[in-house]
Amino acid sequence: MNRDTPHILLINPWIHDFAAYDFWAKPMGLLTIAGLLRAHGVTVSYIDCLNRFHPRSAKSDPLARYGRGPYLKTRLSKPEGLQDVTRHYSRYGIKPHWLKADLLKLTQPDLVLVTSLMTYWYPGVQETIENIRSVFPQTPIVLGGIYARLCHNHARNHSGADHVAVEPAENNLFPLVQKFTGFSASLAFDPADLDSYPYPALDLQTTINYVPLLTTRGCPFDCAYCASRFLEPQRRLRSPESVIEEIKFWHRNYSISDFVLYDDAFLVDAARHAIPILEGICSSDLKVRFHTPNALHIRGINATTARLMYRAGFSTLRLGLETAEFDHRQDLDQKVSEKEFKRAVDCLIKTGFNKDQVGAYLLVGLPDQKISAVEQSIITVIDSDIKPVPAYYTPIPHTALWTKAVAASRYDITDDPVFTNNAIMPCSKAPFSWEMLTRLKESAENSIR
Ligand code: SF4
Repeated sequence: MNRDTPHILLINPWIHDFAAYDFWAKPMGLLTIAGLLRAHGVTVSYIDCLNRFHPRSAKSDPLARYGRGPYLKTRLSKPEGLQDVTRHYSRYGIKPHWLKADLLKLTQPDLVLVTSLMTYWYPGVQETIENIRSVFPQTPIVLGGIYARLCHNHARNHSGADHVAVEPAENNLFPLVQKFTGFSASLAFDPADLDSYPYPALDLQTTINYVPLLTTRGCPFDCAYCASRFLEPQRRLRSPESVIEEIKFWHRNYSISDFVLYDDAFLVDAARHAIPILEGICSSDLKVRFHTPNALHIRGINATTARLMYRAGFSTLRLGLETAEFDHRQDLDQKVSEKEFKRAVDCLIKTGFNKDQVGAYLLVGLPDQKISAVEQSIITVIDSDIKPVPAYYTPIPHTALWTKAVAASRYDITDDPVFTNNAIMPCSKAPFSWEMLTRLKESAENSIR
């Protein structure tokens, strides 16, 4: 190992939750940082506590279900205040002694960077940091990611990290590296120009079973329940050419067939962005599939985009519908009307997509939301001949709906992010019950049989 340059260890932490499943979840930000560090000559190691293909875990087919699958889980005691929840609470990810053994195999790093995602998963972040600290007590640990940015003060007080990043990583990455390691580098990329970034360092993973793609950052909308505007205030686009080159790179060099779009707004301004990308994929004749778990903008779906997505190999489509109460959604968002929804579904079905491929997300558990309204939305979606996909509402600080969520919640969600867990529907007052949740789930699932 070249000791002229620092050795930086990047870690994707455990999840502590009532339920978790790998629905195409990769730590894209952390792997992008790894790519940037490597491109500047830094020695990088990577440990993924959520690695489903860890050498010590039971063998599973990385390509089954297009790359999705269950995490290993270990039962934990429930967090204080949630003991009455009639669900098991678990650590999702590799066993702690596997993590320790993997850490001990490494040369002591000069710096550890840990990422974070959902705010209520912070107990998993804490436990990860404790484990790193027990092996490398002298090494500074920096925490970044979504929890670190949305609940900055909580993370500073409770995560156990030496430093908690408040900005998007790439803005302050090299000053941070210099502060903690003394290493300085002249920038070989332009933080404002996404085309100048290296590809995320997916090759650091044990297995590349699919490739997450970000072709844009940010979203022009500002929905009341979403933190996209807070986290990425500006919308930025990669050039269509660079996106097509990246897809070809992973397909040709790593035989990857499944690509997962992480964009918040892929279809917005489609003539300038999505259409040239889709046309480029179609004309390159690649045998690939695309999945959109982050939802597509319904308004951007028309005969042209539907046809191109179908020809390009889009396979799993999720639409950001959120509610079918079209006349009562103005406090939530302005992103789709009933006519636009019906027209979009019509285009998709006429193009050849079937109802197993197309699902519409419906928010469940919004403050003051009646369950009858959710049930009605489920029926509307089923009547449109696609499948409803319940998405349980998470109250998020820095969003317009936060104040209402705080007022509506059965818990003090300002005190501890663990109470914002969407599995417990924290903003539903009576008649919340697990039976009611099960009934909703079943009515959505029955629609696809
Ligand atoms: S919910 Fe979707 S459309 Fe609304 S702000 Fe978030 S990313 Fe944009």
